[in-house]
Amino acid sequence: MASELEPEVQAIDRSLLECSAEEIAGKWLQATDLTREVYQHLAHYVPKIYCRGPNPFPQKEDMLAQHVLLGPMEWYLCGEDPAFGFPKLEQANKPSHLCGRVFKVGEPTYSCRDCAVDPTCVLCMECFLGSIHRDHRYRMTTSGGGGFCDCGDTEAWKEGPYCQKHELNTSEIEEEEDPLVHLSEDVIARTYNIFAIMFRYAVEILTWEKESELPADLEMVEKSDTYYCMLFNDEVHTYEQVIYTLQKAVNCTQKEAIGFATTVDRDRNTIRQTKPLKVQVMHSSIVAHQNFGLKLLSWLGSIIGYSDGLRRILCQVGLQEGPDGENSSLVDRLMLSDSKLWKGARSVYHQLFMSSLLMDLKYKKLFAVRFAKNYERLQSDYVTDDHDREFSVADLSVQIFTVPSLARMLITEENLMSIIIKTFMDHLRHRDAQGRFQFERYTALQAFKFRRVQSLILDLKYVLISKPTEWSDELRQKFLEGFDAFLELLKCMQGMDPITRQVGQHIEMEPEWEAAFTLQMKLTHVISMMQDWCASDEKVLIEAYKKCLAVLMQCHGGYTDGEQPITLSICGHSVETIRYCVSQEKVSIHLPVSRLLAGLHVLLSKSEVAYKFPELLPLSELSPPMLIEHPLRCLVLCAQVHAGMWRRNGFSLVNQIYYYHNVKCRREMFDKDVVMLQTGVSMMDPNHFLMIMLSRFELYQIFSTPDYGKRFSSEITHKDVVQQNNTLIEEMLYLIIMLVGERFSPGVGQVNATDEIKREIIHQLSIKPMAHSELVKSLPEDENKETGMESVIEAVAHFRKPGLTGRGMYELKPECAKEFNLYFYHFSRAEQSKAEEAQRKLKRQNREDTALPPPVLPPFCPLFASLVNILQSDVMLCIMGTILQWAVEHNGYAWSESMLQRVLHLIGMALQEEKQHLENVTEEHVVTFTFTQKISKPGEAPKNSPSILAMLETLQNAPYLEVHKDMIRWILKTFNAVKKMRESSPTSPVAETEGTIMEESSRDKDKAERKRKAEIARLRREKIMAQMSEMQRHFIDENKELFQQTLELDASTSAVLDNSPVASDMTLTALGPTQTQVPEQRQFVTCILCQEEQEVKVESRAMVLAAFVQRSTVLSKNRSKFIQDPEKYDPLFMHPDLSCGTHTSSCGHIMHAHCWQRYFDSVQAKEQRRQQRLRLHTSYDVENGEFLCPLCECLSNTVIPLLLPPRNIFNNRLNFSDQPNLTQWIRTISQQIKALQFLRKEESTPNNASTKNSENVDELQLPERFRPDFRPKNPYSESIKEMLTTFGTATYKVGLKVHPNEEDPRVPIMCWGSCAYTIQSIERILSDEDKPLFGPLPCRLDDCLRSLTRFAAAHWTVASLSVVQGHFCKLFASLVPNDSHEELPCILDIDMFHLLVGLVLAFPALQCQDFSGISLGTGDLHIFHLVTMAHIIQILLTSCTEENGMDQENPTCEEESAVLALYKTLHQYTGSALKEIPSGWHLWRSVRAGIMPFLKCSALFFHYLNGVPSPPDIQVPGTSHFEHLCNYLSLPNNLFCLFQENSEIMNSLIESWCHNSEVKRYLEGERDAIRYPRESNKLINLPEDYSSLINQASNFSCPKSGGDKSRAPTLCLVCGSLLCSQSYCCQTELEGEDVGACTAHTYSCGSGVGIFLRVRECQVLFLAGKTKGCFYSPPYLDDYGETDQGLRRGNPLHLCKERFKKIQKLWHQHSVTEEIGHAQEANQTLVGIDWQHL
Ligand SMILES: [Zn+2]
Ligand SMILES: [Zn+2]
Ligand SMILES: [Zn+2]
Ligand SMILES: [Zn+2]
Ligand SMILES: [Zn+2]
Ligand SMILES: [Zn+2]
Ligand SMILES: [Zn+2]
Repeated sequence: MASELEPEVQAIDRSLLECSAEEIAGKWLQATDLTREVYQHLAHYVPKIYCRGPNPFPQKEDMLAQHVLLGPMEWYLCGEDPAFGFPKLEQANKPSHLCGRVFKVGEPTYSCRDCAVDPTCVLCMECFLGSIHRDHRYRMTTSGGGGFCDCGDTEAWKEGPYCQKHELNTSEIEEEEDPLVHLSEDVIARTYNIFAIMFRYAVEILTWEKESELPADLEMVEKSDTYYCMLFNDEVHTYEQVIYTLQKAVNCTQKEAIGFATTVDRDRNTIRQTKPLKVQVMHSSIVAHQNFGLKLLSWLGSIIGYSDGLRRILCQVGLQEGPDGENSSLVDRLMLSDSKLWKGARSVYHQLFMSSLLMDLKYKKLFAVRFAKNYERLQSDYVTDDHDREFSVADLSVQIFTVPSLARMLITEENLMSIIIKTFMDHLRHRDAQGRFQFERYTALQAFKFRRVQSLILDLKYVLISKPTEWSDELRQKFLEGFDAFLELLKCMQGMDPITRQVGQHIEMEPEWEAAFTLQMKLTHVISMMQDWCASDEKVLIEAYKKCLAVLMQCHGGYTDGEQPITLSICGHSVETIRYCVSQEKVSIHLPVSRLLAGLHVLLSKSEVAYKFPELLPLSELSPPMLIEHPLRCLVLCAQVHAGMWRRNGFSLVNQIYYYHNVKCRREMFDKDVVMLQTGVSMMDPNHFLMIMLSRFELYQIFSTPDYGKRFSSEITHKDVVQQNNTLIEEMLYLIIMLVGERFSPGVGQVNATDEIKREIIHQLSIKPMAHSELVKSLPEDENKETGMESVIEAVAHFRKPGLTGRGMYELKPECAKEFNLYFYHFSRAEQSKAEEAQRKLKRQNREDTALPPPVLPPFCPLFASLVNILQSDVMLCIMGTILQWAVEHNGYAWSESMLQRVLHLIGMALQEEKQHLENVTEEHVVTFTFTQKISKPGEAPKNSPSILAMLETLQNAPYLEVHKDMIRWILKTFNAVKKMRESSPTSPVAETEGTIMEESSRDKDKAERKRKAEIARLRREKIMAQMSEMQRHFIDENKELFQQTLELDASTSAVLDNSPVASDMTLTALGPTQTQVPEQRQFVTCILCQEEQEVKVESRAMVLAAFVQRSTVLSKNRSKFIQDPEKYDPLFMHPDLSCGTHTSSCGHIMHAHCWQRYFDSVQAKEQRRQQRLRLHTSYDVENGEFLCPLCECLSNTVIPLLLPPRNIFNNRLNFSDQPNLTQWIRTISQQIKALQFLRKEESTPNNASTKNSENVDELQLPERFRPDFRPKNPYSESIKEMLTTFGTATYKVGLKVHPNEEDPRVPIMCWGSCAYTIQSIERILSDEDKPLFGPLPCRLDDCLRSLTRFAAAHWTVASLSVVQGHFCKLFASLVPNDSHEELPCILDIDMFHLLVGLVLAFPALQCQDFSGISLGTGDLHIFHLVTMAHIIQILLTSCTEENGMDQENPTCEEESAVLALYKTLHQYTGSALKEIPSGWHLWRSVRAGIMPFLKCSALFFHYLNGVPSPPDIQVPGTSHFEHLCNYLSLPNNLFCLFQENSEIMNSLIESWCHNSEVKRYLEGERDAIRYPRESNKLINLPEDYSSLINQASNFSCPKSGGDKSRAPTLCLVCGSLLCSQSYCCQTELEGEDVGACTAHTYSCGSGVGIFLRVRECQVLFLAGKTKGCFYSPPYLDDYGETDQGLRRGNPLHLCKERFKKIQKLWHQHSVTEEIGHAQEANQTLVGIDWQHL
C-alpha cells in the first residue's frame, strides 16, 4: 500500500510547494471580497494537505500548512515578510507585566501561604524563584495542566505581585493605556480583517455538525469520496475497554490497539456525548478542515504573543456580537458548544481564551460578563457532559471568579451569587413532602450528576474567597439577595434525612446518608465565608441575622405541633415544654439554618453590634426554647447512640455521628449546636433550661422524684437499662460542662482566634507528641487550607527533630499542662482516656498529686455572661447533690465513677469561677456568684440531706474512690481558699489564706508524708526500671543483628570462632609456608528447626545456612553490557568492569540439611494448595526455589553448607622445607599442565588404544612424582556432598539465568566467581564507610563469607577433576602463556581478584596429583605473588599520568626508584608506546592506592580460607594498613622486591603481557581500559530542592508517543534515566511478557533489581524481578521532618542526605530484594500489585 501511495503524495507536495505565500497575500490585498477569496483558498488547499492516506504524517502536514495556508496570512497581516514583520511588532510592544504562562501537566506550581489571596493563586517556577515568596512559607504542587501563572496580577497577591523579571515592566504602567497605539493604522485594519475571517472560519468548522457535507462556501468542486472512521471515547470507558473494542472493530492485534487507544485519548476523535463507545463515519474533507481549524486556533494564540495590540484585536473580534444578536459572538458560540466538542478541540480553544481574553485587562471584564451571563447554560451542559471538569469551559470559572474585582463586579452587576445558587438548586430537584432534599433512592445517574453539581459550590467558594473591604449599597443589596438564595438552599437541608429509632428488629437496609454529608462538607467553608462576609459590615450582619431568624421560624414555626404542653418542676421551679422524645420520634442531624443563626449570633456579640444597635435587632422575637430545641435533640441523639440505644439503626447512623464530630464538619455542625445552646441558655432561667434538658435526655423522672434512683435501681433489674441511664447522665453532665466551659470562640468568650487555636493544639498534644502533619489533620482548616497553627505552635510546643527514620515531633511545653481540660469538647472518647492517662502519668513523674482540676477559663462576653449561673442554679445543685448522695451510699444505687468525676469537675469549675469573680471584684460590685455558700447549706426540712460540702468530706475518705481522692482534696482546698477570700476584705492577699488551709489539714500530715515517701520510692523504682529497659532497647537497636543471633543461637559459629587476638604479639600470616598455625577449633552449632546441637565435622551430617543468591550490577562500571546468550556465555574470566556478578548473602541462620529439606518441601506443598485455593501471590516464588528463613523470614533461595577450613584437610603434608621458588614452581606447574594437556589430547583422539597411552606418557617425560591417574578420595559425607552440589547448582542457575545443570563445567566457575564478587562488594562497603577491614563485622556477614569461601574451596571435590584442571590451566595460561591457549583476554581485561580466587581454588585439583612434596601453601603463595605482580603491571599500564603539581617532598625512597626502574622496563617492552615517565613518587603513590582494594580482598579471602586470625592492627580504623596487610599476606613491604627477586621469569612474563595486541591498542589510544582503584558506584546526585526534580520531570516527554508528557515520570536512581512508567505507551516485551518501562529498565540497568524515584508521587520504588516490589520512604523531608508521599501537603521538600545514604547502603549491601520481601510480608496488599506494569 505505502509504496503505491508514495509517488502520488509527492506529486501533491510539489504542486503545494510551488505556492507562494507572498503572491497569495498580494492577491488578498487587492481583493474586494476578502472573505470569499480566503475561503476559496482554504476550500482548495485544506483537503489537499490534511486528507491523507491511512497514515498521517503530522510533521509534513504542519510544514505544508505553514507554507500554503498560514504563510499567506502572516504576509497579509504584516504587509511584508513576516520574518521581519513580527520582530518589528514585538519590538514596538511594551512587554506585559503579566506572566500568564500556561501550565503543562506535571509542571511545578508555587503558592505563597503568606501572601496569596487564595490558594488558587500560583506562580510558575521561574517567577517563583525570582519572587520574594521563595523565602516565605510556600506550598508546592504539580499542575494538572491548564491554569496559568499569576505573576504580575496585583489582585492575586497581598504582597510581592511581581517577580524580578516582570517587575521591570511595571514602572511604566499607565492605567488603561490602549495597546493599539503601538500599531499602525494599516496593520490594525489588516489584522482585524484576517483575524475576523479566520476566527469565524475556525468556530464555524469546529462547531459544524453534519457528517458528510461542508459549509457551502467551503464545498470543493471535485470531491473525493474518502471517509474516516472516527472513534469517540469518553471518561467512563477504561483503556482496556477501548483496546478491546478496537481489537474487535478494526480487527487488529492487541499491540496495535494499545497504540491507537493512546492516540484516541490525547488526540482528536474523542468525544461526542456517547455512552457506549461510538464509531462514526465522516467525510475526509470535514475532518481535514477541522484539523486545520484547530491548527488555526493555536496559530492565533502564538501570533498574539507578538504584541498586546494584536491580542486586543483578537479579543475584540471574538467578543463582537454577530448578526444573530445575543450570544452570537464567536466566543459565545464556542463556549456554548463546548460540550459538543471533543477533548482535543476543547483544550486548544481554552488555551486560546487563556492567552487572549484572560490576559487583556479590558476584555477580561467583558469576557467575565459573557461567562456569567451564560453561566447557567454552561453549567447545565457540564453536568450532563461526560468529560472531566478540566476539559470543560466551566472550569475557567476559577480564572474569573477568583479575581476579587471581577467577582465583586459580577455579584453587583450580574447577580452572580444568586445565579450560582439557583443553578445549583435547579439541579437538585428531588425533594420530600416538606420541600427538603431527598437523596434516598438516588439512581446511579443522579448520583453522577450530584457529583458534578458539587463543582458549583466550588464556584460559590471562589466568588466569596476574598472579603470586601468596602461595601457599596448595591453590593449589600446583591449580597443579601444571594444570602436569601443561600438560606433557601439551607432550608432544603434543615431536617433532611430524618431518622427514627429502630426497636425490636434491626433495620433491613442501611439508609443513604453520604450524599447529605457530602453536601454539608462541601458547604462547610461556604457557610463560614458567608458569616465572614456578614461580619465585615454591620448593616449586612443585622439584615442577615433577621433573614436567618425568619427562615428558622418558617422551618420550626409550629414546633409545638398543637400538642398540649407539659409542665416540669424541680426544687420549686417549674417550666412548660412540649412532649417530645428523641428515642421515639423523628430526629435529624442536619440543622444548617439553626447553626448559621448561631454563628451570626456570636458575630453580633463579637462585633458588638448587639450592644450598639439593640433596637435594630429582633432580639425580643427570639424564643429561647425554640432556638435550643433542635440542637438539643441532636446532642441527645448523640448521647443515646453512645448509650447504645440506637444499635438497631446500623452503621449509617454511627457514621453520621462520627462525621458530626469530625474535624471536617464539626465547625458548622457540633460546635454550632453547642453555641446555639449557649445562646438559648444565656437568655433563659438556667433552672428552666436544666429541666428541659433533663426531659429531653429522658432523665427527668430520675432527678425530679426523691429517691427515684434507689427505687429505680432496685426495681428495674434490667442491667442494660441501668447502664443506659448511667451513660445518659454522664453525657448530660458532659454537656453542661461544655456549655459553661467552652468559651474559646471569639464572641462567646473574651478571647481571640489565636487563643482558640492554641487551645486546640494544647489538647491535641496532651494526648501524645505529634508530627506536624498529624497535628494539621486534627485541626480544622479554613478555606485557604490553613489551620493557623504555625503562628502559635512555638508558644505551646517544642520541636524534636527526626532521626534516620521516623518524623519530627512536637511536644507540649510543660507550662501549658495547666491549661489542660479533661472534658475538652473535641476529644473523642478514646482521645479523652488517652489524654487522661498521659496527663496523670506526667503529674506522677513530676511528683504532683494526680488531680486534673478544671483550668482557669477566660470570662464570657457580656451576651453570654449569664451562662455561668447554670453552675449555681438550684436544679444543678440538686443534680450534684443527688449524684453525690448516690456515691456516699454507694451500695444502694446505680451510679458510676465517671458520673461522680464529672460532678467533681463541675464543682471545680464553679469554685474556679467564684474565685475569679472574687479576684476581679471592684469596690462597687457585689459578687453574685455564691456557689460556696450554696454548697455549704444542708438540704431543706423534709429531706434533711447533708450539704454537698459535707458529702464531699465524707467521700474524701471513701476507700472505693481512691482514684478521685486527689481531686476531692483539691476541691476542699480550693473551697477553703475561696471561703477565706470571701470572708476577708477584697484587698487581703490570697496567699495568707492559703497557709491556714494547710494548717487545717495537718492531721493528715503524717499520713500524707508517709504516702509521699512511699510514692517517691515507687517513682524511683519505676524510673530505674524504665532506664534499664530503655538502655536494653537501645542496645538491641544498635546491635540488632548481633543480638538476634546471640539470643536465639547462643551456640552459633561466631561465638566459638571469633577474631580473638590469640597471638597478638607474634606476626600473623594468612598464607604460604610461614602461615600461622592455628590450633584446631571444634565448632558446635544448633539447628534452628530441631534445636539439636551438632559439631561441624567432615564426616557428619551437613549443616547449612539459609542463603540468597542474586545477580548484581552494583559494582558495574559498564551498565550497557549484559549477557547476550547465557547458554554460551563463558564466565571464566571476569572483566575488570565487573559488569555482572553473582552475590551471595545470608541471614546466618543454621539448620540441618535434612531439616531444611523437610521444611522446604512442606512450604512447597502448602504453597501449591494455597495457590489453587486463593490464587494469591506470595512474597516469595517457591517454584524458583525461594523460601523464607524459618526464623527471621529473610528471603532465601538456597543454602550454603558449613565446613571446616578445607585446606587443613588436604594439606597434611606440612613440611615446608625445600619448597621451590616462584620460578621453579612456575616451571613445574607448566610441565604438569603440559602433561595434562597432552593426556587430554590423547584421550580425545579416538584411534588411541589404551596400550599406546603409557608409551606417550613416557615420551612426554612425565614430571617427577606427578601422577595424573591418581583420583583423590572425597573426604566429605554424602550429605555434605549433596549440599555442595545444591548450592553450586543454585549459584550457577541464578548467576547465569539458565536451567539448573549440575554437570555443567561452568558450575565451579560460578561458585568461585560468587565468592570473589561477594568479597569485593563487602570490601567496597567497608572502604566507603571508612571501616577497618577486620573490624567487628556483623555475624551474619562473617558467617556468610566464611561459609561461602570454604564452600567455594571445597566445591572442586564434587566437580569433575579434569574440568577443574582445565579451568586452572586456562586461568594459569592467561598469566603464563603456553601454546594451547591463544584466545585469552589480555591482562587489561581480567579482574585480578577473580583470577586469584579462581586459581587458588582450582589449584588443589592439580596439586592432589602431585606427590613431589610441593605443598598447597607454596602454590597459594606463588599464585598470589604472581597475580599481585600482574595487577601491579595492570595498574602501571593504566595509571593516569596527567597529574603533575605536587612535587615530591622527601628524597627518593627505595620504592620510588624501584617503581621507576620497573616503569622503564615496561616502557621498553611496549615499544615506547607507554607515556613519558612521570615521577617515581607519583607512580609509587598510584600503585599503592590502586592495589589496596586487591590486597584487602585478598586478606579477607585468605583469612576465611585458612582461618588465620586477623592481626589486631587491621581491626581498628585507621588511614592505611598497607604494611600490616603486606605482612599478613606474606608480601614484602616494598612490593617491587617481588619483581627483583624473580626477575628471571618475570621479565619474560611482563614482555609477553606487553606484547599483547590489545595492550598495544590501548596504549595507542584505540580502546579504553579500567583504571585503578575503581571508584565506588554511587546513586545519582539528587538536587537539594525537590521542585527542581519536578521541573525536570515535567519537561520529560514519553519517548514513544511523540512529545506527549509522561504521566508517571520515574527516575532511575542508579543511572539517572527518566522513564515513562505505568503506562501502556512504554510497555515492552520481556521474556514473552509485556512489562512497564521500569521493569524493563531493571533488566538492563540492575540485572533485575531497580531503585527508582517516582517524581510525581515523591516515592521511592524498589523492584526485583517481575513480581516483587515495594514503596520506600523518599529521601526528601519538609521542614517538619516529614516525608510527603503522594505530594499531598505541598510543603517545600529538601534532600535528607542521611536518608539517601541509607537507600544507597541498602543498594550496596544487596538488601533491596530482602527489603521488598520484608515489606511484602508486613503488608499483604503490596503482593497483589502488578509490579511488572510499572
Ligand atoms: Zn510566571
Ligand atoms: Zn513573573
Ligand atoms: Zn509571600
Ligand atoms: Zn535440625
Ligand atoms: Zn534467618
Ligand atoms: Zn510512554
Ligand atoms: Zn538505571
